[in-house]
Amino acid sequence: MARVRQKGTKPEIGVREILSRLGVEYSTNATDLPGSPDVVDRRGKRAVYVHGCFWHRHGGCVASTTPARNASFWNEKFQQNVQRDARKKRELRRLGFTIMTVWECQLKQEEKLARLKKRLRKFFGVGN
Ligand SMILES: [Zn+2]
Repeated sequence: MARVRQKGTKPEIGVREILSRLGVEYSTNATDLPGSPDVVDRRGKRAVYVHGCFWHRHGGCVASTTPARNASFWNEKFQQNVQRDARKKRELRRLGFTIMTVWECQLKQEEKLARLKKRLRKFFGVGN
């Protein structure tokens, strides 16, 4: 299986820090689950994927650019990534999980970060 990013990169850590502060119990490195979600609440069957905007093609995002050189190579590669993401998420849903996707850019802007924290609280059912 092709890997498009490494474990423990910054955006994932950002999400984990938010969840720790919220008192959410979660596990990481869920390599036994489809697509190895970055954060998993096994008891509540909730999983979070933290996606880099470039590799995973965040729709309408400024970071989701395509290199001018070898554009067809990149487009094919990106398409494979997107299709794989969709497939893995389908597989995980079939196992009864609820899924949330977090995009890298949502951790970088104050305004987006506030919205993300709200979504995470709601998703994990903590606070209000
Ligand atoms: Zn983005």
